[in-house]
Amino acid sequence: MVSQIQEKQAPWQRQLRDVVTNVDELLSHLNLTQEDCLIKQPFPLRVPWRFVSRMKPGDPNDPLLLQVLPTAKEWLKVPGFSQDPLAEAQSNPVPGLLHKYQGRVLLTVAGACAIHCRYCFRRHFSYQDNNPGRAGWQPCLDYIKTDSSIHEVIFSGGDPLLATDEYLAYLVDKIAEISHVTTLRIHTRLPIVIPERINKKLIKSIIRPKLKCVVVIHCNHPNELDFSVKKSLDQLAAANITLLNQSVLLKGINDSSSILKALSEKLFHYGALPYYLHLMDKVQGSAHFDVDETTAKTIWQELVAQLSGYLVPKLVKEQADALSKIPLL
Ligand SMILES: *Cc1c(COP(=O)(O)O)cnc(C)c1O
Ligand code: SF4
Repeated sequence: MVSQIQEKQAPWQRQLRDVVTNVDELLSHLNLTQEDCLIKQPFPLRVPWRFVSRMKPGDPNDPLLLQVLPTAKEWLKVPGFSQDPLAEAQSNPVPGLLHKYQGRVLLTVAGACAIHCRYCFRRHFSYQDNNPGRAGWQPCLDYIKTDSSIHEVIFSGGDPLLATDEYLAYLVDKIAEISHVTTLRIHTRLPIVIPERINKKLIKSIIRPKLKCVVVIHCNHPNELDFSVKKSLDQLAAANITLLNQSVLLKGINDSSSILKALSEKLFHYGALPYYLHLMDKVQGSAHFDVDETTAKTIWQELVAQLSGYLVPKLVKEQADALSKIPLL
């Protein structure tokens, strides 16, 4: 019997409830067995079925599987890889707000993600401590109000689109009231991993006449893009939202110019332009995905030689004390 609460849930909330968190379930669904999988650990497996459905059964090196499957390699302690590689604690004037770069602030709107990406630089970040909850946003709003150089507010997380439509509408209303803020940017992986999240009600919650809206999705491999993703991006584009994509350069997943070329071209046909290609942040537990700078530059140079200029993402790395993300070329 379906309970009333379940009946009331939107399709995206059902997808979120049904995420795969059991390694054996995932592997048996894909007809795989793996010995060095880690089941118990602080950043556990978490992946929505929509994302699993794009993995190739029987392929232990599937580029989507590798992004989510916990392995023993994560326990390797590698020099230079730390828990807070970006030293974000330093740029955190009020809980929930990061002010690192001129003109823009980042709000950690939601404390969780629908998917756990193994390379995530926030895997050790205390989302809970940095998620003030609805009543707690006032100090952040006051901070933005008193600094007229801030023209852009970025919703990040976790994944900010895990917040309810009502919660987002409340926060966007408050931000729209601040006269010097002209742009709302949302960094989210949900259009990729639970495309149902994008619907009319959500769009109504984030669109305001005075705020230009930019959605930056996060997609690393062309196989992540299927028709359901296209539908979600089409809805955002139809609402006049600018669509950009950021990727992380990951060894064994997308560290080749042919994959990145296919990704840029497919994104373009789906309505999103490539924005950043990030060197992975040196976070403990993800050293096996690291692509060194020399290799990254070579891949990028091959990419730039093959693509229209507007399809080439900027190759950047993040540095704790820098005034912006640093372009490598
Ligand atoms: C990446 C980032 C931004 C946005 O930087 P852009 O170069 O404008 O995309 C803002 N704040 C923080 C803390 C960031 O990490
Ligand atoms: S969606 Fe983004 S923030 Fe969430 S785990 Fe993946 S990389 Fe990290």
